[in-house]
Amino acid sequence: MTAMSTRSEASPTRASGGLPSGDFIIDATALTKTYRMGTNEVHALRSVDLKVRAGEMIAVMGASGSGKSTLMNMLGCLDTPDSGSYLLDGVRVEGLSTNELADIRNQKLGFVFQGFNLLARTTAIDNVELPMLYDRTHRWSNPRATAIEALKKVGLGDRLDHVPSELSGGQQQRVAIARALVTSPRLLLADEPTGNLDSRTSVEIMALFQELNDEGITILLVTHEGDISRYAKRFIEMRDGRIIRDEDVDDRHIASVDLLTVDDPELAGTP
Ligand code: ADP
Repeated sequence: MTAMSTRSEASPTRASGGLPSGDFIIDATALTKTYRMGTNEVHALRSVDLKVRAGEMIAVMGASGSGKSTLMNMLGCLDTPDSGSYLLDGVRVEGLSTNELADIRNQKLGFVFQGFNLLARTTAIDNVELPMLYDRTHRWSNPRATAIEALKKVGLGDRLDHVPSELSGGQQQRVAIARALVTSPRLLLADEPTGNLDSRTSVEIMALFQELNDEGITILLVTHEGDISRYAKRFIEMRDGRIIRDEDVDDRHIASVDLLTVDDPELAGTP
């Protein structure tokens, strides 16, 4: 039997910002991904269901190998599941061509990575401008001004012409966040965004995420740091390719919903 996350559906009052209950940014059903290594099969995702409404801020946690990156790759349209369905902001993702997937990533998603992934010999402003220049819809009338605005928003209005090596780790991550935000994405996906930062800088970056979330941006982040997950409003835990826990952070001690079903022989013996 499959572990199922029905938490969002069961709590329609939270986080939708007034959207009708059917409006999900992420509406994923039975996502499955199996990697085959010779004769060995690795079940990276086992029928994962996930629904996320506009305005949510979610932390995904779990041990190494539990499937977090695989799930992020599917939600970020960077990889396709073997089976299951995925609606991203109402658009059905399965069956899209490589170019269509690139377009949907550009138009609906922003990515933030642990290693910042900035172009090394490129200024902050040029790094932030890039997603607009790659946008095949050419919807940006003044990419330069839009990039400056995004950098000001993350507190780097005075670092426009600095290259990454002239910036601290926290500043580089701010540039990366500005780059992720500059196209006004529907969903910001962050993979261990504080993994390369000291604890003080991590707090600053999480405060920035919270600020952006307060302004209405939907954020899903993967982290292995329990302290970081507390900045989110909703907490999801993965194990062995399944979501085993899905709860509001504020209510974690009160309304913990353990979704792990123990009638699965593979999981029944897992501590
Ligand atoms: P996490 O991000 O939680 O560490 P992953 O999603 O990276 O977990 O991995 C889930 C499982 O899938 C692991 O057992 C991992 O070894 C396996 N896996 C991930 N990517 C691949 C791949 N490209 N080829 C083979 N196995 C993979």
